[in-house]
Amino acid sequence: MNNKGKTVLVTGGAGFIGSHLCSKLLDLGHEVVCMDNYFTGCKDNVRHLLSSDRFELIRHDVTEPIRMEVDAIFHLACPASPVHYQRDPVQTVRTNILGTLNMLDLAKHRGVPMIHASTSEVYGDPQVHPQPEGYWGNVNPIGPRACYDEGKRCAETLASDYRRAFATDTRIVRIFNTYGPRIATEDGRVISNFIVQALRGEAITVYGDGGQTRCFQYVDDLIRGLLAVWAAPNFPGPVNLGNPVEYKIKEVAQRVLAETGSKSKIVHKPLPVDDPRQRQPDITLAKEKLDWSPRVSLEEGLRKTIAYFKHKS
Ligand code: NAD
Ligand code: UDP
Repeated sequence: MNNKGKTVLVTGGAGFIGSHLCSKLLDLGHEVVCMDNYFTGCKDNVRHLLSSDRFELIRHDVTEPIRMEVDAIFHLACPASPVHYQRDPVQTVRTNILGTLNMLDLAKHRGVPMIHASTSEVYGDPQVHPQPEGYWGNVNPIGPRACYDEGKRCAETLASDYRRAFATDTRIVRIFNTYGPRIATEDGRVISNFIVQALRGEAITVYGDGGQTRCFQYVDDLIRGLLAVWAAPNFPGPVNLGNPVEYKIKEVAQRVLAETGSKSKIVHKPLPVDDPRQRQPDITLAKEKLDWSPRVSLEEGLRKTIAYFKHKS
């Protein structure tokens, strides 16, 4: 697909991933409309883009309908950290359902592709490991994570039904744990928590025994993957984008301590309810269809992210 000089809407554009995507789209010569309600994002994340006449920042809540002339939509608006999506769970459901409906309506009205940011959380606490796209997941529909997990699952349903009913060009991307510069200091997710704690000399908070696993993808790899999904012709997904190298959380704590040279102690806190025990993407589909695989190791990504937080403090 020839994606040159397009006008691209990025919802959640002032958030962590959205701000990197806006930067990259501008670098590639596109016009970018960044839409955000600043629930977890902030203007600071996109301040460096404000001087570009191809960049426009709009304060708008995606739960409200909107019309505009765009050629493509990257729909990222939604708090991603468990701390923040559980802060106002009903709003999280609204954002996932009403927000996705509104963006699908815009994509349908304009006849343009919508790349939807879904999540590995649709697999819940998986009983199949690693997780291929064909796995339907194991989600508690009434637990504290359900506002996000079930919200994202229903958003995938909506995207699939718009494709079937109206031939809307929807593309579902299941994003696995992603980290990098511009994650908010107070975001609450594990990599930023550990780095901030280590740099401040505060205790590193490992939840549970730290034996649960995650796989960590550096943000640049994800952005390359999102653009590959947009460029692929007739590619509805869902497709997993994540780094398949799996770590126990207690190993991540040790790595952050080693990389920062911090003397912080590790303390154990209760494991949050329904915290998945394991998670690892099967990325066979992304390799085959998008010729995509991650390039940045956890070591290199941690170094870049630590440098960002050092500079920020
Ligand atoms: P983030 O919290 O930094 O960014 C989300 C952005 O959406 C914020 O700027 C927030 O203000 C905005 N937003 C929230 N509700 C909104 C609303 N109703 N209207 C308009 N804007 C709204 O999180 P992130 O890590 O950048 O995540 C971006 C997307 O990627 C989310 O959809 C998330 O579910 C998905 N995702 C992220 C990860 C990850 O590890 N970072 C993993 C899986 C999926
Ligand atoms: N975690 C932790 N300490 C923290 C934050 C998170 O041990 O300060 C754990 C959390 O319990 C989970 C893993 O790290 O097992 C990843 O948590 P995060 O909130 O980053 O993402 P998610 O659970 O959504 O994958």
